[in-house]
Amino acid sequence: MSDIVLEARRNLARANRILYLKGVVDGFGHVSCRHPENPGHYLLSCNRAPKLVTEADIVELDAESNPVGGDTRRLYLERFIHGEIYRARPDVQAVVHSHSAAMITIGATDVQLRPMYHMAGFLTRVARFDIREASGRETDMLISDHELGRHLADTLGPASAVLMTGHGSTMVGGSLEEAVYRAVYAEANAGIQLGAMQLSRNVRHLSETESDLATESNRGQLKRCWDLWCEEV
Ligand SMILES: [Zn+2]
Repeated sequence: MSDIVLEARRNLARANRILYLKGVVDGFGHVSCRHPENPGHYLLSCNRAPKLVTEADIVELDAESNPVGGDTRRLYLERFIHGEIYRARPDVQAVVHSHSAAMITIGATDVQLRPMYHMAGFLTRVARFDIREASGRETDMLISDHELGRHLADTLGPASAVLMTGHGSTMVGGSLEEAVYRAVYAEANAGIQLGAMQLSRNVRHLSETESDLATESNRGQLKRCWDLWCEEV
């Protein structure tokens, strides 16, 4: 295994523990990254709670979300979220799927998730997915096959996040650091929005232009958060 792949596996294990530390995931939820040497493949932990994930748990999956090299470890049921987004979005380098509470609260209503502050400008473009509408049937809510994964990726479109009604949310990023940053600040932003809406009906959120400008200037700051969070885990 090359140094680049080893480093990607190390960072992915760290990302799992960071997302647990920040309350984005618990026993459930997962984070993946595109394979650094084979962009048709991706890396994802085997079926473990994120806090417990080490680099030895990382599995390489092909474009069909099947394990490479005869790996027989149990996999996440919802790995198709990752596989189908990588297939649909060549710009996406990492994906976080979680069941964090404030995002689910907003996703259960007709309230639009809005970027409340400069850390969350990327939320100016958020898609909304209802598995019942997408599949035309009642399900266990999980994205447990290719077809449901494709529906989710289609709904995501060019957005940075998709709220999944009655389930959770999925964030994408142009790097692992960006996807983790987005997952952390999306949940924080949703909590801020819920609090503001309890105080007033007149809630001010960032405009599209403010959001885009903030996203651009924050892009150079991702490493600061990532370095801190790596230190914490
Ligand atoms: Zn899920």
